[in-house]
Amino acid sequence: MFKGSCCCGDVTYEIIGEPVIGAHCHCIDCQKRSGAGHTTGAMFLEENFKIKGTLSKYDQITDGGKKTTHFFCTNCGSQLFGKNAVTVGFMTVSAGTLEDPNLIEPQVAVFAKFKNHWDMMDSSLETFEGMPDWKPKLGV
Ligand SMILES: [Zn+2]
Ligand SMILES: [Zn+2]
Repeated sequence: MFKGSCCCGDVTYEIIGEPVIGAHCHCIDCQKRSGAGHTTGAMFLEENFKIKGTLSKYDQITDGGKKTTHFFCTNCGSQLFGKNAVTVGFMTVSAGTLEDPNLIEPQVAVFAKFKNHWDMMDSSLETFEGMPDWKPKLGV
């Protein structure tokens, strides 16, 4: 069981099951949204989330023309969850909002072509210049 919350505590959540993947993303959207060099997220089955509190959302069309939806706390603005049109049925949680972010094991870094020189990353991670053609598999 994974638990987490936003900055102000208005939004809390629980997730059951294990993540299908953990990833760092250096894309420009993630930099703008986080104000940092990358975001770190873990993807789970959407039906495994139990969320309490009020979320606002923002729809964004990516470079590839696909829609992503970001969910954030209406009160404090913490970025909590993200969904995209490619991985229907899955949702990504922002690792930093977990009660224990160390439970997440990122396996990959994507959109490395946008990485800033000060954004140090574990070089042993599988790293992609863009977004690999990857889809979550059930039962991983
Ligand atoms: Zn909040
Ligand atoms: Zn990104």
